Amino acid sequence: MKDMKKKLKLITSVGTLKHSIALHKSNLDRTFFHQRDEKECLTPTSLKASEEQEVQQNLEELWLEFEERSVAGGEDSVVFYTTSLRGVRKTFEDCRKIRYLLENHKVSFRERDVSMDCEFKEEMWRLLGEKVTPPRLFIKCKYIGGAEEVVALNEKGKLEKLLEGISSAGRSRQCGRCENERFLICWNCNGRSRVVAEDAGMWKRCGECNENGLVKCALCT
Ligand SMILES: [Zn+2]
Ligand SMILES: [Zn+2]
Repeated sequence: MKDMKKKLKLITSVGTLKHSIALHKSNLDRTFFHQRDEKECLTPTSLKASEEQEVQQNLEELWLEFEERSVAGGEDSVVFYTTSLRGVRKTFEDCRKIRYLLENHKVSFRERDVSMDCEFKEEMWRLLGEKVTPPRLFIKCKYIGGAEEVVALNEKGKLEKLLEGISSAGRSRQCGRCENERFLICWNCNGRSRVVAEDAGMWKRCGECNENGLVKCALCT
C-alpha cells in the first residue's frame, strides 16, 4: 500500500515535471517570439531606405545587361516581333510562348508580325544586324532576346522587373482600331495591293499598303 502511494506520487510528479517542462518550453518560445517581434518592430527606417536603394541599384544593373537599339515606337513600350506562319513549328511555338508570357504579365505590347509585312522583317533584321528569326523582344528600346533568353529571364523573376512601369492600361483585350488583327485592309486598293494607274490604265503597286494589301495598325504594331 505504501509502495502504491509512492508509485502514484512518482507518476504524478513525472506528470507534473512533464507539464512544467512543457510550460517552460512554451514560455521560452513565447519569449523568443516576443524578442523577435520586438526586433522586427525596432528595424530602423534608415535600413528600409537602404534596402530600397539596393533594389533600385539592382534594377539599374539589370538594365545594363541589355543593349540599346533604336526601335521605332519602342521608347516606352514593349515591341514584340513575331510570326503567325506555322511553317516552322519551333518558331511558331516560341512566338506563342513569348506572347503568352507578355499576356500573363498583363502589359500592353506592340506586336509586329513579320509574316504579314516584310517591312517588319527587314526592320527586325536591321535592328539585330543579321537575318534572325522571330520571336524577338524589345523593352524600352533594349534588346531582351529570343524565346530562350526571355523564358530564362521570366523564370528568374527578371522579366517582371524589366516590365515594371509598362502600362497595362492600353491592354484592353481589343485594340479599338483593328480589333487585335494588328492590320487593316487597305482603303486605297481594297486589299488588292494594286491599283489601276490613271494615265496608262494598267495595274500598278498600291502606294498605301504592304505586299498583302494590308495597312499596319498604328496603335498596336
Ligand atoms: Zn490595332
Ligand atoms: Zn493598298
